[in-house]
Amino acid sequence: MLHTITVSTHKRTEILDITSEVQKLVQESKLKEGLCLVFVPHTTAAITINENADPCVLEDILQELEKTIPFDDNYQHLEGNSAAHVKSSLMGSSISVIIENGQLKLGTWQGICFCEFDGPRTRQVWIKMIS
Ligand code: ZN
Repeated sequence: MLHTITVSTHKRTEILDITSEVQKLVQESKLKEGLCLVFVPHTTAAITINENADPCVLEDILQELEKTIPFDDNYQHLEGNSAAHVKSSLMGSSISVIIENGQLKLGTWQGICFCEFDGPRTRQVWIKMIS
């Protein structure tokens, strides 16, 4: 069964912690041991795992991505959102997390972070539990 999380973003670029939503689906699935695959079906968004304790970390990631991949840079793609496409590929479209004892097995400071690079929009995240 495929689960979907809907994420509403409010800025052009933004990183949102969706760990609790994913954990809720893990619990509802009743799967005790396995893998949780989190997939973003968008070409201008991404998913990553990083620190969710200090929100400044996510702001720093956004800031450095912005410096490395400027919004305007003589891109060929006429839609005007090439920076978002490049950032999406750099960060990646899926992650997988071990499920142990019915819980996501994340490090102490780790969270599952949805990355918006061409917002604000309503986005989908697909979740698949693999036993
Ligand atoms: Zn585009």
